[in-house]
Amino acid sequence: MSEVQAVTAYVGLGSNLAHPRQQVEAALQALTEFRDSRLLSRSSLYRSRAIGPRNQPDYINAVAGLSTRLDPDALLDALQAVEQTHRRRRDGERWGPRTLDLDLLVYGDRQIDTPRLRVPHPEMANRAFVLFPLSEIAPGWMEIAGIGPLQRLTQVLSGDGVERLQ
Ligand code: AMP
Repeated sequence: MSEVQAVTAYVGLGSNLAHPRQQVEAALQALTEFRDSRLLSRSSLYRSRAIGPRNQPDYINAVAGLSTRLDPDALLDALQAVEQTHRRRRDGERWGPRTLDLDLLVYGDRQIDTPRLRVPHPEMANRAFVLFPLSEIAPGWMEIAGIGPLQRLTQVLSGDGVERLQ
């Protein structure tokens, strides 16, 4: 175990292909096996309408909280390794259907802007399918670095097209 201090990170999960619920549940299980990390919390599953090209199946989404000593790049490596094992299609179509998409949403209070990694995830403030599950597991006062408190973000968001599943 490295000397690095543990940080709370939040990961967004989404799938709209090949049994999406199972894809997301399997990915949540995979998060429990990350080295130097501990799964703190996971949201319910949510169903959301796909953005981008029409005639795509709905997405299943969730958010998980991790305590991790992995640095942000190592955490992204681990997330991408899980995507690969789910044979995510990387055919270049932006917002096309996905077996599994894992995004690093938040890494403590860090703001990161490198060619490979932008944290907090630049789109998260506009995405109900991220913020609703996140607000289920993270305190409303939590400050999203450079963006604002989570509660304020969810207040202005329409829940259209996003449904929490039992
Ligand atoms: P996408 O297919 O839209 O999920 O984008 C994947 C690419 O986004 C990868 O090549 C990552 O290096 C890059 N990326 C930048 N910031 C993030 C982030 N916060 N979480 C996940 N991937 C990211």
